[in-house]
Amino acid sequence: MTDTLDIKITKTTESRLATTDFSNLVFGHTFADHMLVADYADGEWKNFEILPYGPLDLSPAISALHYGQAFFEGLKAYKHDDGRVTIFRPDKNAIRFNKSAERLSMTQLPEEMFTQSLAALVDVDRDWVPAKAGHSLYIRPIMFATDPYLGVVPSKTYKFVVLTGPVGPYFTKPVRIKFETHYTRAAEGGFGYAKAAGNYGGSMLPFKKAAEEGFDQLIWTDAKEHKYVEEMGAANVMFMLDGKLITPSTRDTILDGVTRDTVISLAKSWGMPVEERRISIAEVVEGARNGKLTDAFGAGTAATIAPIGAMHYEGEDFVLSDASTREFSKKVLSTLNDIRYGKTEDTFGWNYVV
Ligand SMILES: *Cc1c(COP(=O)(O)O)cnc(C)c1O
Repeated sequence: MTDTLDIKITKTTESRLATTDFSNLVFGHTFADHMLVADYADGEWKNFEILPYGPLDLSPAISALHYGQAFFEGLKAYKHDDGRVTIFRPDKNAIRFNKSAERLSMTQLPEEMFTQSLAALVDVDRDWVPAKAGHSLYIRPIMFATDPYLGVVPSKTYKFVVLTGPVGPYFTKPVRIKFETHYTRAAEGGFGYAKAAGNYGGSMLPFKKAAEEGFDQLIWTDAKEHKYVEEMGAANVMFMLDGKLITPSTRDTILDGVTRDTVISLAKSWGMPVEERRISIAEVVEGARNGKLTDAFGAGTAATIAPIGAMHYEGEDFVLSDASTREFSKKVLSTLNDIRYGKTEDTFGWNYVV
């Protein structure tokens, strides 16, 4: 770590902590007392400030609103039994933050500024990190363009904002999915690998239609032929097929997930064969038919591991094994929880202590 970041801290005089119901947390609805904001102007990041969570004063002409120069990150902080608070692999999100920025012609944020900002904010609101199994403090960093100018050119000024909020256990009932063969999330040469705001706006209509058809989630397929598996909603997708962990290799259309990388690292450490490659719908469906598909799940920060219960393709339903009997995904989830909550040694060095 380099120099400590100079952050002005103004604490709230009206904490909402005591009046927040931690037993009924709905993802994304509850925010902690403070937020962090910083500005990029005249070629440098400045005005780092932690202040009470609240509205921002912005021009209606900012190019983020008109042309989508905006992106986000998502990660979590956990409370251990001994009271320690750790953030899970923020270094990975810092790197990805800049990959998104680069693709959208936005400015870079030095990695240590990203990590120190998050740590400082979580430190101020450390009492908001729930000390309960399955709970955590979700951290949402964003960057967006603030030039009040309608030209379609990269902005010269940006804002970096970090919000946090306590979250409870994610809905982990196995999902019924369909392979999406009409709409496309991302294409070669596009920016599916970036956490660009526009990628998620564009996914809402396909999700809405899938929900109307009775599906909990959809699996995106390649833009060209709709034959190859890409991602499950806003999570990476992984299959245990014929004793091998298989997941689509990262490329323009696939977001390089931290959970994906974490699952792969654990699998390799257990001596399990891992294949990162193109995987066709036909191969997955065939595995479901002949019983060689023994596990299938989405992997992402929000849900961690979201088991797939049933798949729908070309008018046919494929019901997979009972998720509670799946060896691999259960072992991954329990190992990961033990590391994140400090119940086992963090041999990979994934926990960043706040
Ligand atoms: C955020 C995200 C993921 C998961 O990434 P994690 O770092 O594991 O949270 C996967 N796919 C998409 C499209 C995403 O937006």
